[in-house]
Amino acid sequence: MTLSPETQSSLIRLGGQMMLAGKAYEYDRELADEIGPRLTGSANYVRATDWAVAEFTRLGLSNVHKEGWKIPATWEPETLATARMILPHEQRLHLESEGWSPSTPDGGVRGSVLYLADLRAESLKAAAGQIKGAIVLVDNASFNTVISKGFGVLFDALDQVGKDGAKAIILGIGTTNDAPSMIGVTNFVGSIANVPVGNLGKEDTLLLKRLLERGAVEHSPVEVEFSFKNRIHKNVTVNNVVAEIPGTDASGDYVLIGGHLDSWHPGTGAQDNGTGAATVVAVAEAIKASGLKPKRTIRFVLFGGEEEGTIGSIRYAQQHAGELSKCVGVFVTDTGAQAPKGWYDFGRADESDALNAIKPLLDSLGAGGVTTDGEYTFETDESAFLIKGVPAFVLWTPVDKYIQIHHKPSDTFDKVNQRDLNLGAATVGVTAYAFADAGNTLKHYSAKEVEDQLKAVNAYTEYQDMVAHKVL
Ligand SMILES: [Zn+2]
Repeated sequence: MTLSPETQSSLIRLGGQMMLAGKAYEYDRELADEIGPRLTGSANYVRATDWAVAEFTRLGLSNVHKEGWKIPATWEPETLATARMILPHEQRLHLESEGWSPSTPDGGVRGSVLYLADLRAESLKAAAGQIKGAIVLVDNASFNTVISKGFGVLFDALDQVGKDGAKAIILGIGTTNDAPSMIGVTNFVGSIANVPVGNLGKEDTLLLKRLLERGAVEHSPVEVEFSFKNRIHKNVTVNNVVAEIPGTDASGDYVLIGGHLDSWHPGTGAQDNGTGAATVVAVAEAIKASGLKPKRTIRFVLFGGEEEGTIGSIRYAQQHAGELSKCVGVFVTDTGAQAPKGWYDFGRADESDALNAIKPLLDSLGAGGVTTDGEYTFETDESAFLIKGVPAFVLWTPVDKYIQIHHKPSDTFDKVNQRDLNLGAATVGVTAYAFADAGNTLKHYSAKEVEDQLKAVNAYTEYQDMVAHKVL
């Protein structure tokens, strides 16, 4: 990437603006504390889209608008769940409805618990007789028997358990202190599961498993009951929010800075992905406040439906397929706000070469690194663009603290560190602006090159799973 001296000084101005007067922390506070959890398509989510439109408009951005797409169902808890073990003794259980679960029938579900250690199709077939009429417990160990083939295969397995006549499913994937941790049983597309699915805390899950092992010896069943009511609306239009700072040249080329605006609900989505959404708006604010005019257009996009299967970005890439060739780079933030290390380049050496042009600047933020790690390739909104050959980047941060709060009640604003968030936002702003102003652009990969790229970062199986499940 070639950068003129003028661009270099613009980047220094923008980085300084973002570190010393950046607004990401305040934006995240507004999203997390004042709007609250932002389940896709919920009233809070709609308020968040209105908030973004109002702020982009106030900042004087161009082409500020919402872009709609249909989701099969939106979902919110309507009542608090109640849950208890009945046999071998009565005890409260820490269970909540899993996202995109139907309500339990009136009066709740009650039954014997069956633990399924293995979710592979042949094992489910063998267990079909026991599954019928049971409340099926699965946990991370069960998931691990199929997850390497992709989430689609996991959703198929849960679907099969429902078809085999289970009364309900309990996902024992909650964390310590009996906290829930959501994954969403959405079949990747935002549809509702075929039986009620609860999400159970870790200590309760371990208790049920110990009692089941004991019961197998003593022939005593473990029985539970639970009840919850969810508010479900079918076939709803969900909006992404789009705004632009127009480029000074007439090429029509643009850089896309994106992140998802939706969140899970046990917490307030302060870092998944309040900090990422706040970063998108904060970069726009800082460019405007600095009076900078990029050569290429910078487009800011807040996506919905990420937590249900990166649906908003997939729909966006489909709706904009005709102009993706004009997109010179996509920059996404979605791993919380620990101090950044640099960028995920998903194995594209030309991307890391390009970043060398700004490495001295990013090094001063501690963010001059690049990783080829592909573990999270299909975990956020860059993937819809990456698979079309567009140069795509995700901000690389450590996740040791983030993993403890992600999708849990503890994902709240008190965990956000303003300095670390500013470092990440400045990294996004400086990098994206460099691509918007650079003398040259990266090529788009062909379908064959994308295939080779995905294989090289061990993400091709997941890609095939998504294609097989008609997600992409
Ligand atoms: Zn996220």
